[in-house]
Amino acid sequence: MTFQPNSPEARDVAYHIHSYTDARSHQEDGPLIIERGDGAYVIDSSGNRYLEGMAGLWSVGVGFNEPRLAAAAAKQMEKLPFYHTFGGRSHGPAIDLAEKLIRLAPVPMSKVFFTNSGSEANDSVLKLLWYRSNAMGKPQRKKIISRLRGYHGVTIASASMTGLPINHTSFDLPIANVLHTGCPHHYRDAHDGESEEDFATRLATELEEMIEAEGPETVMAFIAEPVMGAGGIVVPPETYWAKIQAVLRKYDILLVADEVICGFGRTGQMFGSQTFDMQPDVMVMSKQITSSYFPFSAFMINDKVFEPLADESNRIGVLGHGFTGAGHPTGAAIALENLKIIEERDLVANAAEVGAYLREHLNSFRDHPLVGEVRGVGLLAAMELVLDKQEKTAAEKPGQLGKYAADRLFAHGVISRPMVDALAFCPPMIVNRADIDGLIGALRKSLDETAKAFDIA
Ligand code: PMP
Repeated sequence: MTFQPNSPEARDVAYHIHSYTDARSHQEDGPLIIERGDGAYVIDSSGNRYLEGMAGLWSVGVGFNEPRLAAAAAKQMEKLPFYHTFGGRSHGPAIDLAEKLIRLAPVPMSKVFFTNSGSEANDSVLKLLWYRSNAMGKPQRKKIISRLRGYHGVTIASASMTGLPINHTSFDLPIANVLHTGCPHHYRDAHDGESEEDFATRLATELEEMIEAEGPETVMAFIAEPVMGAGGIVVPPETYWAKIQAVLRKYDILLVADEVICGFGRTGQMFGSQTFDMQPDVMVMSKQITSSYFPFSAFMINDKVFEPLADESNRIGVLGHGFTGAGHPTGAAIALENLKIIEERDLVANAAEVGAYLREHLNSFRDHPLVGEVRGVGLLAAMELVLDKQEKTAAEKPGQLGKYAADRLFAHGVISRPMVDALAFCPPMIVNRADIDGLIGALRKSLDETAKAFDIA
């Protein structure tokens, strides 16, 4: 494509390398430029309006033009635009937010550590758990187990814990001490005729076998999203978490719940750990904590994790870890106001109610020739597209079908995300039934157009 000289498109191509984009194709395709937000909708530079069916990056819970968050940011910027938390320094917003998070925690938690992104938070968790193992005189206890298709970020440690090939290939990852166990996706990964219950039992047995093979004294922690997000919105079988947690308890292995997507209402309860009855030792939060109005993340640790850390930092003289912007007063002020809005407007209940409505309508497409599986929980759903339902096969190139359908959906005014051949939906938590009706109407057209393009009756 040729771009108008000096246009935003031409300048983007000239100066900007994009995350998660084919850098070479981008020179041809150019950017989609989003200019403004309006509730659950965004408007591009040509004036087209889209339902943001992914809440940006699973993150804009309260919608794209919430004046209270802008006001909270401005107020804090004027009062104290920055202060840090090194060397025992603190400020009101960080203190208020730490207390708020501990009070919201569904299991007893002790302390909050602030960071700036989901990746950074997970990276910090791994480092601090290593530090803890050393503090406890167990330097051999350094391994962390995550899952194939799990997503934990892109820094060196968090990308290692991520279980997706694109985050490892050509990056020389994963690093040592990071292992991957199976993904709980019954539709794709169960053996022929295996029930959900038997599948969950097998995954727990495989985890136990991995721990035994590695040496239980070397395994420190297990990290997982309550529901996998970027790996395909994988809702685990009903008994999965009970069985996995029984294995972790048997070997005294810490559980890290990566709540970066699930946290603050996405699954229809405040945390995914509640929805799946998980008892984590560490909970990682980002995205909806500020509705992404400010880059922000945090993790909570319980006393079992905190106490040895505290002793080790006392022995060394300082906890040698921390980021300049962590616990940023503006970000913390936005988070506090955002959490207030989520509570006052009962957006968690709305996510449960409108989410059930969305999933009910997605399920009504089950008989469509392209639809292999519909899955989801709360306001988080995926529709997996196949060319052959019996064989569960996609088009010649994996992802072709999903991309085509997502492009058609986009043409009809809905932003979704193709995850290989599954379409993901994670709209802002403020959506109502009318918004979902619009999404479903666009989806119907997209599926029919996709079926036609791929010659499916
Ligand atoms: N964990 C999970 C579960 C995520 O979904 C993401 C981001 N999609 C991350 C961690 C990484 O967050 P960030 O992009 O802010 O580094």
